Amino acid sequence: MKEFVTADDIRALAEQGERELMVREHTTLTDAALDAARMHGVRLVEGGATSQAQPAGDVVAALPVTPGGLPAPALAGLVREQAPTGRREQGGSRPSAPGGEPIEGLPDIGSLQTKLMIDGTWSDAAGGETVPTIDPATNRTIVDVAAAGPEDIDRAVRAAREALPAWRDMAPEKRSRILLRIAELIEADRDRLARIESQDVGKPIREAALVDLPACWDPWRFYQGLVRVIDGRVLAMPTSSLDYVRKEPMGVVGMIIPWNFPLHIACRKGSAALAAGNTVVLKAPELAPLTCLELGRIALEAGLPPGVLNVVPGLGATAGAALAEHPGVDKIAFTGSTVTGRTVMRAGAGTIKRVSLELGGKSPSIVFADADLERAVIGSVFGIYLAQGEVCSAGSRVLVERPVYDEFVRRFADKAAGIRVGMPHRWSTQLGALINERQCQRVYEYVEIGKAEGATVVAGGVRPSDPELAGGNFIEPTIFAGTNDMRIAQEEIFGPVVVIVPFDGEDEAVRIANDVRYGLAAGIWTSDVGRAHRVAHRLEAGSIWVNQYGVYPSEAPFGGYKESGTGYDLGLESLSEYLETKNIHLNIGTDTLDWYGS
Ligand code: NAD
Repeated sequence: MKEFVTADDIRALAEQGERELMVREHTTLTDAALDAARMHGVRLVEGGATSQAQPAGDVVAALPVTPGGLPAPALAGLVREQAPTGRREQGGSRPSAPGGEPIEGLPDIGSLQTKLMIDGTWSDAAGGETVPTIDPATNRTIVDVAAAGPEDIDRAVRAAREALPAWRDMAPEKRSRILLRIAELIEADRDRLARIESQDVGKPIREAALVDLPACWDPWRFYQGLVRVIDGRVLAMPTSSLDYVRKEPMGVVGMIIPWNFPLHIACRKGSAALAAGNTVVLKAPELAPLTCLELGRIALEAGLPPGVLNVVPGLGATAGAALAEHPGVDKIAFTGSTVTGRTVMRAGAGTIKRVSLELGGKSPSIVFADADLERAVIGSVFGIYLAQGEVCSAGSRVLVERPVYDEFVRRFADKAAGIRVGMPHRWSTQLGALINERQCQRVYEYVEIGKAEGATVVAGGVRPSDPELAGGNFIEPTIFAGTNDMRIAQEEIFGPVVVIVPFDGEDEAVRIANDVRYGLAAGIWTSDVGRAHRVAHRLEAGSIWVNQYGVYPSEAPFGGYKESGTGYDLGLESLSEYLETKNIHLNIGTDTLDWYGS
């Protein structure tokens, strides 16, 4: 074996079916090689009496490949690879769960990144401002995080601008390798990142581990492959002309993202923008900035040159606004509420920025009487209660055909009653805490609005009785039986609140489904494939799921109709969102048209 072993060597070994690597006296393994060994299940075996290498055996244990935890029928296809979570971190205990190795516990506070990451270095905000990030389950401060002001944003944009030429012109093969390495490091750090995301956002740790994390590393894997297929085209022209279309990076991209899936959204946008050759300033959400900062650390470790990705947490009205207006930013990629989206669009108008907006939703899950009712219940419950309903594409309206309405409501309520509300850091928890007290209060206000509108509370709408949850932002899964004209069926509540609405026939289903200002996603439950297509074609929404709910493969574009936004995350479409189109026309003939010559 070579003395200096790289990740590529390990991959090559694994591809040949080797599962062991003999480590000798002078063998040196790079960090990347160690990660690759872990990832590919290659054991390091000590082969020399005086070896300085790490001892043989379980030093680098293969990650288990069996998933576990979440209800398989609902999750099928949600993420291609359900994350196994097999490594133990100090302080974490491990109860058993079917089919997987659960993790528990809180992150080590002392290890968290809390500063701005600009031009490859960590610094305080110029004005010294910090904003506490609060644990939604206790409403206690986790840690104070530097909060960027306009001066810091300006510094970050300048760093990104300076880093642009070298990154844009880097050989695609090299650029692609760095992005792949980011994916590998995220995957290798999965347990720790899941713990941080769970505590910062208040989401159940098993969701963070099994849903969020795979959706964080996969876009990097997807887009790193696309770096090398970005191409243009040659146009059919007379032989005296060569005319070609070239795709080029836009330049500096400002990213402004929300708190509900911070690492996932940073990854899905960041991977596409960097793959296209842009540099990035990422404004991390003030309510949950911690994993975005970890992404900054990982990017540097992966060899991303300083300034190519800058991470600046801060308040929306200061840091976000400064980024959206900055003349040095070529494109703004925004995910957040429709209200803020409008403000960002206006701010971008000053310098005619390219703007893409991923905004709110009020998505329907439509259940026809011919559907497999059990699957429809499982999928619709999953569609609203994942991540406490704080999901842009949550199925917050469930439309049910009248003949099965009562039966569906009963079964839905039974299923929801079994959801375990609890402290997010416990593996057994299925519904965590809402992001902050304000959001929690807002959700309770909507419960009152629903009652006042005459909707029937089928279940929930109250605080859980468990005294352990008294200090956090909790609410029981809430079910209303109502009509589509009610505010609770028209406005984005962003909490675990669903309205179940009856309908008669296909036409009415489509009419009600489209009767909102949003158009992000929709689910259709039917056993009639013709109906599935007919209805899918008539729905005004960007993502349609048939006999499932909430599937986001990296290959598939995700974007909204109507007030749910403009532009796409994921898919080839997202790569295009970060590329300019240039046309180049060459006269390769001998003639010159002398217009003024006669
Ligand atoms: P938000 O609009 O309040 O904030 C989003 C981001 O914008 C944050 O980083 C915030 O700091 C920043 N911001 C706030 N004011 C700003 C301003 N004036 N200028 C520039 N930036 C500003 O949204 P939120 O509460 O963080 O997230 C919840 C919303 O996000 C929901 O409406 C949800 O539907 C939406 N969302 C959409 C998608 C999608 O892909 N369509 C995904 C997740 C969340």
